[in-house]
Parts: sequence; C-alpha cells; structure tokens
Amino acid sequence: MADIFAQQLETLRAHALDRHLREIGSAQGPIVDLAGKRLINFSSNDYLGLANDPRLREAAIAAIAEFGVGAGTSRLISGTQSPHLRLEIALAKWKGTQAALSFSSGYAAAVGTLPALVAKGDVVLLDKLCHASLIDGARLSGAIIRVFPHNHLGKLESHLEWAQREHAGKRILIVTESVFSMDGDAAPLRELLELKKRFCALLLLDEAHAIGVIGPNGRGLAAAENLNKDVDVQMGTLSKALGVSGGYICGSRSLIEWLINRARSFIYSTAPPPAIAAAALAAVDFLASPDGEERRLLLRQRIKLMQELLPVRPATPNRPDRTVDRVSSAIFPWVAGAEQAAIDLARALQKEGFFVPAIRYPTVAKGSARLRITVTAAHSEDQIRALCEAIARLSA
Ligand SMILES: *Cc1c(COP(=O)(O)O)cnc(C)c1O
Repeated sequence: MADIFAQQLETLRAHALDRHLREIGSAQGPIVDLAGKRLINFSSNDYLGLANDPRLREAAIAAIAEFGVGAGTSRLISGTQSPHLRLEIALAKWKGTQAALSFSSGYAAAVGTLPALVAKGDVVLLDKLCHASLIDGARLSGAIIRVFPHNHLGKLESHLEWAQREHAGKRILIVTESVFSMDGDAAPLRELLELKKRFCALLLLDEAHAIGVIGPNGRGLAAAENLNKDVDVQMGTLSKALGVSGGYICGSRSLIEWLINRARSFIYSTAPPPAIAAAALAAVDFLASPDGEERRLLLRQRIKLMQELLPVRPATPNRPDRTVDRVSSAIFPWVAGAEQAAIDLARALQKEGFFVPAIRYPTVAKGSARLRITVTAAHSEDQIRALCEAIARLSA
C-alpha cells in the first residue's frame, strides 16, 4: 500500500504549508538558542518575561520540595493539593470575580467549558477569528454554531435575532476574544455586552492575550473598561503573560461549581502538577503587586516604540470598517500574503539573528500568511529598533 501520510505531507509541502518542530536549547526569554545559534526572540507570548523569572522558579522548586512532582489523580479524586486552591483564590481576587477554576491548559479550559454551558439545541455565536480551542469547544458541545465576521456587530445582531426567532427558549452563547491572537486587535466589548443583554444571551470572553498586558494590574480588557461584572464567563490562560502553564475560568460561584461538576477536561484528567499551580500563583501575586504593574508599564513602552517604528500591516480580509484598537496589544501582524513570501521573510530575518515565526493557513486565512511579531517587557529598545530596521529593509 502506498504511504498515504507521505502523500498527504507532499501536498502540504507543495503548498508551503508543512510545519516542523524547532529545538530551543535554552530557557525562554528575549534571546534563545536555536540549533546552537543565539537569536533575538520575537515569537513568544511570554509578554512580561516571566517564563524564566527567579520568583516563579523558586515558587516551583519550593512546591516540588513540599508536594512532589505529580498530582497523582484528577482534581475531584485526591489531586486537589493546597497550591491548586491557593491559585484559584488568588485568581478570583485578582480578576474581581466570585470564584475561579484552573485547568491544565487554556485549550482544556475551552473544550471543557463550552460543552458545560451549551448543548444540542442551543446556539453558539463565534467570532470568525476565534481561537481553535473555542471552535473545538463549540463543536464538542453539539450546539448549533453560527460564525459572525470578525468584530461585526451588525451580523452578530442578525444572528441573535435569528436565534431568538428560530430557537426560542434555547440558550444563546456569544464567544469572542478580548485581544485576537493573530491580529492583535480588540473586541468592541461594550457594544457586545449591550447586544448580549438585549437578547438575554451569555458571553464567554477569552482574555488569553489581554491579561498581563491590558487593564489595571493586567486584569484584561473587561477590567480595563470596567465591565468585569457583565461578562458571564471570563476565560484566560496561565501560559502566556503569566509565564507558566494552564488555563482558567473566572466567574460566579455557581458557574465554577457547575464546571467542577460538568467540565469533562477538568473531571477526567489528572490535576496539573502542584508546582505549576505554585508558579502560576507567584505570577498572579507578581502581577497584582506594584512591581508587576511597573513591568506591565515597561511592556507598554515597548509596544509604543514598536508602533512608532513599524507601520501596521494588517490585512485580515474580513476586517470590518470600524477602526480597531491597536493601542494596547503586544501582537504585531506583518502580513506578507502568500505563504511562501511569509516563510522567505522569516528565513531572511533568521539569518540576521531574529526569530519571528511565519504564521500560515489554517492558523490564519489562506493568502494572509504573516509574520507574527510579539514584543515583551524583556526586549531592549535596541533589539526592537534592530528588528524593525531589518523588516523595513528586507521587505522594501
Ligand atoms: C493560546 C490560546 C489558548 C490556549 O491556551 P493554552 O494555555 O496555550 O492551551 C486559548 N485561547 C486563545 C485565544 C489563545 O491564544
């Protein structure tokens, strides 16, 4: 029999869509070691430079000494150790919600939570640019899925009217992100909440790329706009700005208790290692502290410098006319268009000592391949200037 996988891989290669692993031989940070070469790293979501922070490392090491490595079993059996609960108390306090629940990843939070919120017969309305984990969660729920064009309030409204008319009495869940992962733009949260209220729907807001970056003490977009109380389900990850690993849901006490009873990725999976929870707790404590706020303000300076030096080059085909908030995010898409063009530019930058990933279909739409540049508080101004100079020169 012919090797079917080899044939499929050949098709990917022919379209410049094949993907490969790269080995990083160092800790994460603004400089990484790739195959023995030191590169300035603009690929990571470690926005505050916490992934190798001494405070987090020490918290993890101390927790290993006290609690060991593995959690042994799922949270509902005997895998809930003190660091897990301490983390959840700190998360709820920091986010200003009644309660919080942590998951082993943001992906697990999404695929566990969505099916606990809606079921067959209900309706999920997803922004077109929602992360794969939200799409997968929506599919797993069995609910009817309607996608609205990115940030398009008019289309969302007509979907809501349709859902209310055709599926009267069923639950309607709107799902979106506060800062979009591949474009770095923000959702019109206030208007979304008005629609949600008018149609008695629920809103799940994924703040994966906003926490640590936006809002007082990095609490995200809902907190920045003083709309925390109105968002029913606040999702986020511990793996990006918080520098560790895991996901979370924040919300009302009853929501969290319901998830403990119904979120399958929470129930049927071994608890995250207690040392991971301890490190994440150290990250939350840091963000909530004056030092954390200072680090976040440093990140904002770096973002501002990047905005000055690199003209924005977004080209998401379904972007609406409304001017989106580019001010706050650390994600800078540099759209090359063709898949091969993005790869060539990334390779040329790598030769000059910069690690910037080329993002292609299916992560972004076909023909909107791009460099996805992320700046962090750990980058120096000189590193940012050098990158922008190289991009301008190489794409001239
Ligand atoms: C990264 C990401 C996730 C998944 O989080 P992990 O902790 O990496 O599993 C979920 N949603 C969005 C928008 C993301 O960017």
